[in-house]
Amino acid sequence: QELMARGLPKRAPLPGVTNIVIVASGKGGVGKSTVAVNLAVSLANMGKHVGLLDADIFGPSVPLMMNIHEEPLVDDNNLMIPPINYGVKCLSMGLLAKQTDAIIWRGPLVMSAVQRLLKGAVWSPLDILIVDTPPGTGDVHLSLAQNVPIAGVLLVSTPQKAALEVTLRGAQMYRKLGIPIIGLTENMGHAICGNCQTRMEIFHNATDSFTKQIGTSVLASIPLDGNITECCDKGVPSVIKYPETEYAKSYQKLAESL
Ligand code: ADP
Repeated sequence: QELMARGLPKRAPLPGVTNIVIVASGKGGVGKSTVAVNLAVSLANMGKHVGLLDADIFGPSVPLMMNIHEEPLVDDNNLMIPPINYGVKCLSMGLLAKQTDAIIWRGPLVMSAVQRLLKGAVWSPLDILIVDTPPGTGDVHLSLAQNVPIAGVLLVSTPQKAALEVTLRGAQMYRKLGIPIIGLTENMGHAICGNCQTRMEIFHNATDSFTKQIGTSVLASIPLDGNITECCDKGVPSVIKYPETEYAKSYQKLAESL
């Protein structure tokens, strides 16, 4: 709040990076990283130069989901070279864990870690850098908002009230920071029966009232599907393994809407 009262410092663009998009959620476990990964790979499939920065320092999942485990190499200027898989340049706190295992993440340290991932790496040339953020709104989000221009934030939530209410608070913060809200990806709100293809609603869906309150729309609705979980755990994004499914097409449409 103090930061907002003082006004934001000048945000310097990352050289060679056209757009930075944040993927955010109110709560953890709603599928934010899964969306970030499948979105990044869908963008790469469209022929774009894509980066994926895993800024979820408390629970990095990009290394597992993208099957990248080696520590990044460093160039002559001491800049990290993001490893590439599925056509996406990736960096994650999880890849630097060996250096940071024993560190307790206090605010300033969080800020400098995010800075290092953003500015201490060879991202250029990129059409788009997707940033997977920790759940909620904290130091990582502020550090990003303060330091680089953000083209927009993509919100991810399950459609129940408990998750959407926290997402709403986050959305209000992004508004105050002057970051446009691109839209909502609704995740795990329904499932499709494998036998009869009937659509089953899982939650008492509260998405409509949420989108009305913040004046945004649902850009994709991804079902709860065991194959998506399996893909995450095996490090093969579902848009690669199951490209013909409805949900892979939804991820693709989401990528095209950016
Ligand atoms: P978050 O980033 O919000 O903490 P994750 O993307 O890590 O959430 O997802 C949490 C868990 O839910 C993971 O095990 C993931 O595989 C699983 N998951 C995410 N989306 C789906 C989905 N649509 N269907 C089934 N499982 C999913």
